[in-house]
Amino acid sequence: MRPAFFVGSVLQHGLALGLRGLAACGELLFPRGCAACDGELSATDAVFCPACAATLQPLVPDQICGRCAMPLSEQATLRRLRLGPAVLATCETCAAWPAGLQSLHAPFEYGGALSEAIIACKWQARFDRIRPLSRLLVPSLQSVIERCDVVIPVPLHGQRLRQRGFNQAALLSHAALHELAPHQRRDLRPDWLQRIRPDAPARHATLAERQRRTHGAFAVPSQAHLHGLRVLLVDDVVTTGATITACAQALCQAGARSVDAVALSRVVTLRGPDR
Ligand SMILES: [Zn+2]
Ligand SMILES: [Zn+2]
Repeated sequence: MRPAFFVGSVLQHGLALGLRGLAACGELLFPRGCAACDGELSATDAVFCPACAATLQPLVPDQICGRCAMPLSEQATLRRLRLGPAVLATCETCAAWPAGLQSLHAPFEYGGALSEAIIACKWQARFDRIRPLSRLLVPSLQSVIERCDVVIPVPLHGQRLRQRGFNQAALLSHAALHELAPHQRRDLRPDWLQRIRPDAPARHATLAERQRRTHGAFAVPSQAHLHGLRVLLVDDVVTTGATITACAQALCQAGARSVDAVALSRVVTLRGPDR
Protein backbone atom coordinates (compact mmCIF):
# COMPACT_ATOMS: atom_id res chain seq x y z
CA MET A 1 0.00 0.00 0.00
CA ARG A 2 1.32 3.44 -0.92
CA PRO A 3 1.81 5.40 2.27
CA ALA A 4 -0.44 8.44 2.43
CA PHE A 5 2.29 10.73 3.74
CA PHE A 6 5.24 9.92 1.58
CA VAL A 7 5.49 9.78 -2.21
CA GLY A 8 8.31 9.36 -4.73
CA SER A 9 10.45 6.30 -5.30
CA VAL A 10 13.59 7.53 -3.55
CA LEU A 11 11.59 8.66 -0.56
CA GLN A 12 9.65 5.40 -0.52
CA HIS A 13 12.96 3.61 -0.34
CA GLY A 14 13.66 5.72 2.74
CA LEU A 15 10.32 4.67 4.20
CA ALA A 16 11.08 1.00 3.55
CA LEU A 17 14.16 1.48 5.74
CA GLY A 18 11.93 2.91 8.45
CA LEU A 19 12.35 6.46 9.65
CA ARG A 20 15.34 5.56 11.79
CA GLY A 21 17.01 4.24 8.65
CA LEU A 22 16.02 7.33 6.76
CA ALA A 23 17.31 9.58 9.53
CA ALA A 24 20.54 7.60 9.56
CA CYS A 25 20.86 8.20 5.80
CA GLY A 26 20.20 11.86 6.44
CA GLU A 27 22.90 11.96 9.06
CA LEU A 28 25.36 10.46 6.60
CA LEU A 29 24.38 12.97 3.93
CA PHE A 30 24.41 15.87 6.36
CA PRO A 31 26.82 15.50 9.28
CA ARG A 32 24.78 15.98 12.44
CA GLY A 33 24.94 19.50 13.85
CA CYS A 34 22.55 22.09 15.21
CA ALA A 35 19.06 21.56 13.74
CA ALA A 36 18.86 25.25 12.79
CA CYS A 37 22.38 26.42 11.80
CA ASP A 38 24.33 23.14 11.41
CA GLY A 39 26.77 24.52 14.01
CA GLU A 40 28.58 22.41 16.54
CA LEU A 41 26.55 20.84 19.35
CA SER A 42 27.69 20.98 22.96
CA ALA A 43 26.26 17.50 23.67
CA THR A 44 25.58 14.59 21.32
CA ASP A 45 21.88 14.49 22.28
CA ALA A 46 21.39 18.26 21.95
CA VAL A 47 18.99 19.47 19.24
CA PHE A 48 20.34 23.03 18.94
CA CYS A 49 23.72 24.70 19.50
CA PRO A 50 23.84 26.99 22.58
CA ALA A 51 23.27 30.19 20.53
CA CYS A 52 20.19 28.76 18.75
CA ALA A 53 18.87 27.12 21.94
CA ALA A 54 18.87 30.59 23.53
CA THR A 55 16.24 31.72 20.96
CA LEU A 56 13.68 29.05 21.98
CA GLN A 57 10.58 30.28 23.78
CA PRO A 58 9.21 27.39 25.85
CA LEU A 59 5.48 27.42 26.56
CA VAL A 60 5.29 26.43 30.24
CA PRO A 61 2.38 23.97 30.75
CA ASP A 62 1.10 25.73 33.91
CA GLN A 63 1.06 29.07 32.12
CA ILE A 64 -0.77 28.18 28.90
CA CYS A 65 -4.41 27.57 28.13
CA GLY A 66 -5.29 23.87 28.36
CA ARG A 67 -7.51 24.01 25.27
CA CYS A 68 -5.73 26.24 22.75
CA ALA A 69 -2.16 26.42 24.15
CA MET A 70 -2.04 30.22 24.15
CA PRO A 71 -0.25 31.86 27.10
CA LEU A 72 -2.65 32.66 29.95
CA SER A 73 -2.94 36.17 31.37
CA GLU A 74 -1.15 36.73 34.65
CA GLN A 75 -4.47 36.64 36.47
CA ALA A 76 -5.50 33.31 34.87
CA THR A 77 -2.07 31.80 35.65
CA LEU A 78 -2.44 32.75 39.32
CA ARG A 79 -5.94 31.27 39.36
CA ARG A 80 -4.65 28.07 37.83
CA LEU A 81 -1.86 27.80 40.40
CA ARG A 82 -4.40 28.36 43.19
CA LEU A 83 -6.92 25.80 41.90
CA GLY A 84 -4.32 23.17 41.01
CA PRO A 85 -3.59 21.21 37.82
CA ALA A 86 -6.86 19.21 37.99
CA VAL A 87 -8.74 22.31 36.84
CA LEU A 88 -8.50 22.93 33.11
CA ALA A 89 -7.57 26.59 32.87
CA THR A 90 -8.76 28.20 29.66
CA CYS A 91 -8.04 31.61 28.21
CA GLU A 92 -10.45 34.45 27.40
CA THR A 93 -10.31 33.75 23.64
CA CYS A 94 -11.38 30.11 24.01
CA ALA A 95 -15.00 31.15 23.66
CA ALA A 96 -14.23 31.36 19.91
CA TRP A 97 -12.55 27.93 19.91
CA PRO A 98 -15.01 25.44 18.43
CA ALA A 99 -16.07 22.24 20.18
CA GLY A 100 -14.34 19.05 19.05
CA LEU A 101 -10.73 19.46 20.08
CA GLN A 102 -10.39 18.63 23.77
CA SER A 103 -6.86 19.92 24.36
CA LEU A 104 -3.81 21.21 22.53
CA HIS A 105 -0.27 20.76 23.84
CA ALA A 106 2.63 22.70 22.32
CA PRO A 107 6.06 22.88 23.97
CA PHE A 108 7.39 25.97 22.16
CA GLU A 109 6.33 29.27 20.70
CA TYR A 110 6.89 29.38 16.92
CA GLY A 111 9.91 31.52 16.11
CA GLY A 112 13.71 31.71 16.44
CA ALA A 113 15.82 28.67 15.68
CA LEU A 114 12.84 26.33 15.96
CA SER A 115 11.04 27.95 13.04
CA GLU A 116 14.26 27.87 10.98
CA ALA A 117 14.60 24.15 11.64
CA ILE A 118 10.94 23.49 10.77
CA ILE A 119 11.18 25.55 7.56
CA ALA A 120 14.37 23.74 6.46
CA CYS A 121 12.72 20.40 7.12
CA LYS A 122 9.58 21.34 5.22
CA TRP A 123 10.89 23.34 2.27
CA GLN A 124 14.45 22.05 1.85
CA ALA A 125 13.64 18.41 2.64
CA ARG A 126 16.20 18.31 5.44
CA PHE A 127 15.13 14.89 6.71
CA ASP A 128 18.11 14.81 9.08
CA ARG A 129 16.19 17.36 11.18
CA ILE A 130 13.12 15.19 11.69
CA ARG A 131 14.59 13.01 14.41
CA PRO A 132 16.07 15.79 16.57
CA LEU A 133 12.87 17.85 16.22
CA SER A 134 10.74 14.82 17.09
CA ARG A 135 12.57 14.53 20.42
CA LEU A 136 11.22 17.97 21.37
CA LEU A 137 7.69 16.59 20.99
CA VAL A 138 8.20 13.68 23.37
CA PRO A 139 7.25 15.35 26.72
CA SER A 140 4.01 16.71 25.20
CA LEU A 141 3.22 13.31 23.69
CA GLN A 142 3.88 11.57 27.00
CA SER A 143 1.52 13.95 28.81
CA VAL A 144 -1.45 12.90 26.66
CA ILE A 145 -0.71 9.53 25.01
CA GLU A 146 -2.18 7.44 27.86
CA ARG A 147 -5.65 8.73 27.03
CA CYS A 148 -5.30 8.18 23.26
CA ASP A 149 -5.73 5.04 21.14
CA VAL A 150 -4.48 6.15 17.74
CA VAL A 151 -2.25 8.91 16.30
CA ILE A 152 -3.23 10.82 13.15
CA PRO A 153 -0.98 13.51 11.63
CA VAL A 154 -2.62 16.60 10.14
CA PRO A 155 -2.82 15.75 6.43
CA LEU A 156 -1.74 17.80 3.42
CA HIS A 157 -3.95 18.16 0.37
CA GLY A 158 -3.02 15.57 -2.31
CA GLN A 159 -1.68 18.27 -4.64
CA ARG A 160 0.59 19.72 -1.91
CA LEU A 161 1.72 16.22 -0.95
CA ARG A 162 2.72 15.47 -4.54
CA GLN A 163 4.64 18.77 -4.79
CA ARG A 164 6.49 18.31 -1.50
CA GLY A 165 6.80 14.54 -1.65
CA PHE A 166 6.24 14.01 2.07
CA ASN A 167 4.08 15.15 4.95
CA GLN A 168 6.34 16.57 7.65
CA ALA A 169 3.68 16.09 10.35
CA ALA A 170 3.53 12.36 9.55
CA LEU A 171 7.32 12.02 9.60
CA LEU A 172 7.52 13.88 12.91
CA SER A 173 4.79 11.68 14.42
CA HIS A 174 6.51 8.53 13.20
CA ALA A 175 9.87 9.55 14.66
CA ALA A 176 8.39 10.82 17.96
CA LEU A 177 6.40 7.60 18.54
CA HIS A 178 9.65 5.66 18.24
CA GLU A 179 11.14 7.74 21.04
CA LEU A 180 8.40 6.55 23.43
CA ALA A 181 8.52 3.45 25.63
CA PRO A 182 6.93 0.43 23.86
CA HIS A 183 3.80 0.50 26.08
CA GLN A 184 3.20 4.15 25.12
CA ARG A 185 3.41 3.65 21.36
CA ARG A 186 0.20 3.84 19.37
CA ASP A 187 -0.72 3.02 15.79
CA LEU A 188 0.00 5.85 13.36
CA ARG A 189 -2.85 6.22 10.84
CA PRO A 190 -2.00 8.95 8.29
CA ASP A 191 -4.58 7.42 5.92
CA TRP A 192 -7.53 7.95 8.30
CA LEU A 193 -7.90 11.66 7.56
CA GLN A 194 -7.72 13.50 4.23
CA ARG A 195 -7.55 17.11 3.25
CA ILE A 196 -10.11 17.39 0.46
CA ARG A 197 -9.78 21.12 -0.18
CA PRO A 198 -6.41 22.82 -0.72
CA ASP A 199 -5.06 25.34 1.75
CA ALA A 200 -5.28 28.92 0.48
CA PRO A 201 -2.46 31.24 1.63
CA ALA A 202 -3.85 33.23 4.57
CA ARG A 203 -0.91 34.57 6.52
CA HIS A 204 -2.70 37.38 8.28
CA ALA A 205 -6.17 35.86 8.44
CA THR A 206 -7.91 35.89 11.80
CA LEU A 207 -9.14 32.73 13.52
CA ALA A 208 -12.70 33.40 12.33
CA GLU A 209 -11.56 33.85 8.69
CA ARG A 210 -9.46 30.74 8.81
CA GLN A 211 -12.31 28.79 10.36
CA ARG A 212 -14.50 29.75 7.39
CA ARG A 213 -11.77 28.64 4.96
CA THR A 214 -11.09 25.32 6.67
CA HIS A 215 -14.72 24.38 7.33
CA GLY A 216 -15.36 21.10 5.51
CA ALA A 217 -11.75 20.94 4.24
CA PHE A 218 -11.12 17.54 5.90
CA ALA A 219 -12.82 14.18 5.49
CA VAL A 220 -12.47 10.74 7.02
CA PRO A 221 -12.20 8.04 4.31
CA SER A 222 -14.38 4.95 4.46
CA GLN A 223 -11.48 2.62 5.37
CA ALA A 224 -10.95 4.44 8.71
CA HIS A 225 -12.38 2.68 11.77
CA LEU A 226 -12.61 5.51 14.21
CA HIS A 227 -15.74 4.60 16.08
CA GLY A 228 -15.23 4.98 19.83
CA LEU A 229 -11.50 5.67 19.50
CA ARG A 230 -9.62 8.44 21.24
CA VAL A 231 -7.50 10.26 18.65
CA LEU A 232 -4.29 12.23 19.03
CA LEU A 233 -3.65 14.69 16.19
CA VAL A 234 -0.06 15.77 15.51
CA ASP A 235 1.20 18.81 13.60
CA ASP A 236 4.42 20.80 13.33
CA VAL A 237 2.98 24.31 13.72
CA VAL A 238 -0.38 25.58 14.95
CA THR A 239 -1.10 29.13 13.76
CA THR A 240 -4.65 30.16 14.67
CA GLY A 241 -5.89 26.64 15.45
CA ALA A 242 -8.44 26.67 12.60
CA THR A 243 -6.82 23.72 10.78
CA ILE A 244 -6.45 21.50 13.80
CA THR A 245 -10.00 22.22 15.06
CA ALA A 246 -11.42 21.50 11.57
CA CYS A 247 -9.57 18.15 11.66
CA ALA A 248 -10.97 17.43 15.13
CA GLN A 249 -14.51 18.20 14.01
CA ALA A 250 -14.23 15.85 11.00
CA LEU A 251 -12.89 13.08 13.27
CA CYS A 252 -15.68 13.58 15.85
CA GLN A 253 -18.32 13.51 13.12
CA ALA A 254 -16.87 10.20 11.93
CA GLY A 255 -17.32 8.68 15.39
CA ALA A 256 -14.10 9.43 17.30
CA ARG A 257 -14.79 9.44 21.05
CA SER A 258 -12.35 12.29 21.75
CA VAL A 259 -9.64 14.28 19.98
CA ASP A 260 -6.55 15.84 21.58
CA ALA A 261 -3.65 17.44 19.73
CA VAL A 262 0.10 17.92 20.06
CA ALA A 263 2.12 20.38 17.98
CA LEU A 264 5.80 21.17 18.04
CA SER A 265 5.12 24.90 18.12
CA ARG A 266 2.35 27.45 18.51
CA VAL A 267 2.17 30.91 16.95
CA VAL A 268 1.31 33.30 19.77
CA THR A 269 1.96 36.68 18.16
CA LEU A 270 -1.56 36.80 16.69
CA ARG A 271 -2.96 37.45 20.15
CA GLY A 272 -4.75 40.79 20.42
CA PRO A 273 -6.74 42.72 17.82
CA ASP A 274 -5.17 40.82 14.92
CA ARG A 275 -6.49 37.45 16.09
ZN1 LIG B 1 22.58 26.64 15.90
ZN1 LIG C 1 -7.53 29.09 25.10
